[in-house]
Amino acid sequence: MFGLSSDGDGTKWTVWNWLLLGVALLTSAGCSPSSSERPMCYQSLVTESALSAGSGVWQTIAEPLLDAEGVSEEVQLSTGSSDSVVLRVSAPQDAKACVQLHSVSDENGVAWVTPPTLIADYGSYCQSCPQRVSVGVGGGVYVLPSIDPAPTVTGTMRVRAALRDCATFLPYRSAAGRPDRLRIEQLVPPAVNRTSRGEIWIEFVILPGSFLSGDESAFPTPLREAVDQINTILSPGSLAMTPLRIRRTASADPLELKSGDLSAIASLVDSLKSCQHNGERPRSQVLPIVLAGCIRNQSQSLMITSEPEGYVAHIPDGVITEQGPYGVYLSGRTCRENSTPFVLTSGELAKRIAHELGHALGLYHTVESDGTTDQLADTSSDNLMNFRPSVVAGLGSGFTTNQLAVMRRHPLIRWQ
Ligand SMILES: [Zn+2]
Repeated sequence: MFGLSSDGDGTKWTVWNWLLLGVALLTSAGCSPSSSERPMCYQSLVTESALSAGSGVWQTIAEPLLDAEGVSEEVQLSTGSSDSVVLRVSAPQDAKACVQLHSVSDENGVAWVTPPTLIADYGSYCQSCPQRVSVGVGGGVYVLPSIDPAPTVTGTMRVRAALRDCATFLPYRSAAGRPDRLRIEQLVPPAVNRTSRGEIWIEFVILPGSFLSGDESAFPTPLREAVDQINTILSPGSLAMTPLRIRRTASADPLELKSGDLSAIASLVDSLKSCQHNGERPRSQVLPIVLAGCIRNQSQSLMITSEPEGYVAHIPDGVITEQGPYGVYLSGRTCRENSTPFVLTSGELAKRIAHELGHALGLYHTVESDGTTDQLADTSSDNLMNFRPSVVAGLGSGFTTNQLAVMRRHPLIRWQ
């Protein structure tokens, strides 16, 4: 699931109801102190201090002013010798602002991202852009190039960002209280050999609505098996996911999302940040995979409420902003009161996690419900990233070469 589209088998879900909206705000999860002096709010699966961690550094490039349509002044940035451009856009005056890259071009005059022209470009992502960019709710991360074959990164790039109206994703025109500037940051990558094997560090967060909430084992078997299956399809790209932690917490069910307001996710991420042990990897390097209970998503423009099987805040996702929502969320039950959790096999878990992980690392649906396809030449509807992954048997043939190439550019990946 991403934005206004919907993952999964829709027949399973009902579209209802407004009554509980507003009732189910998140409570702070906090950490339950154990008998020792150190809060044991998660269980470690590895010795994190032993992990190598080359990490990029975010540098603010500019805080350009916005015009009447919410579009920023042009900013020039230098890419150095990097083969990708990783940007973060946010509004320093409004942590909930909705942002998007508006245009990107290289020094040869090649347009990577073009300003929206179709009304469809004002959806959750720009459809007609040479390289897609999605609306970032509460800030957005952009990893370019996002297509294969990829254009060559030139030494200088020209960038405009824009503020979008969170209710409609249309231009946010001048109004009282509207932010007057955006912040554009660039990630300067660590000096590592990016041709080697890459790891994605993850943390599982199990909420009460998940069928695994009663499983007290250090690493529940279905999760362990799912990770093994996902790593099998990541291995052709020399990638692997490495679970660092399992956390069980009592908050965030239902998880109430809105297309332009992800405060519920931001609150959950904040509660995770409050539980950080000395010597362990900072949250900014670890992608949470949340096994939630009910997830309810309200599209503000279409006035539709749905219950997605899975959700990510943004494509790509997974690089935390100061306050921003991020992470992978899987639904664990319907939103009916007292509904019982879905019991998933390791194969079903693997498929759902792999699909959302693909979004988090920059993959769009190979085919959307309206027939729109992604921008990779070697994908088809018979792929894990189909908008309805249930049509694919098992994990299908895994990720394609081009999909793996996109994922390898993501800055969450740690290189060995
Ligand atoms: Zn999806």
